Amino acid sequence: MARKIMIAGNWKMNGLLEDGVALAKGVAAEVKKMGKPECEFLVCPPFTLLTSVKKALRGAKVALGAQDCHFAEKGAHTGDISPVMLKDLGCQYVITGHSERRADHGESNELICKKSQAAYNAGLKVIICIGETLAERDAGKTIEVCTKQIMGSVPETATAANTVIAYEPVWAIGTGKTPTAQDVEEVHAAVRKVLAKKLGKGNANKMRILYGGSVKPANAKEFLALPDVDGALIGGASLKVEDFIAIAKNAGF
Ligand code: PEP
Repeated sequence: MARKIMIAGNWKMNGLLEDGVALAKGVAAEVKKMGKPECEFLVCPPFTLLTSVKKALRGAKVALGAQDCHFAEKGAHTGDISPVMLKDLGCQYVITGHSERRADHGESNELICKKSQAAYNAGLKVIICIGETLAERDAGKTIEVCTKQIMGSVPETATAANTVIAYEPVWAIGTGKTPTAQDVEEVHAAVRKVLAKKLGKGNANKMRILYGGSVKPANAKEFLALPDVDGALIGGASLKVEDFIAIAKNAGF
């Protein structure tokens, strides 16, 4: 089953106007040099940079995404941003359920499911993040936790066309630590089985499952060569043009 590899950058709460635009322009220039890249590139800057990054990416095959959204279309939700607003700005994707939002904002699977459904309704594709903490891993509960997160946070209406799953072990995010390739493949294969149960085999076989957690140019090839790994969600290394692009190139794209 051919699934197009996705190389996605999550800039998190990083970037002021000048350096954010420079980063986007740098990525755009490198991707343009590739001609027709075999993989799909995506950058997810903070809300404040979406409009300027969109301009900086003009003419390059790099999609634009946001890092979160509210579940309502509009209304009395001070400080929040709706999926309709993101679509209006030119976003194609939104990340939901990142572990930093689950931890910092107490986001539940139920809330993530509502946000994801609202994003579909607005015409956005969604990258839904799952992953276990170190304590859960040490207790042998990785698959159990990921299963619960998928069952609770992935809407029934999810399809391979509107959804990408990102498996990100919490303990590997920003730490330089990673699971072994064998561990990653084991979890991704299990995630695909759960997706098959929930959404049917057709969707599960076509749905992309990204690995995230300290992906760097040096380890990209190993992870991206795994049969059930369909790309990477990259935090720290997406903030440097050379590293972000080298992740794709080292993996053969
Ligand atoms: C992330 O924030 O989604 C992430 C994977 O971060 P890092 O690559 O820095 O571990």
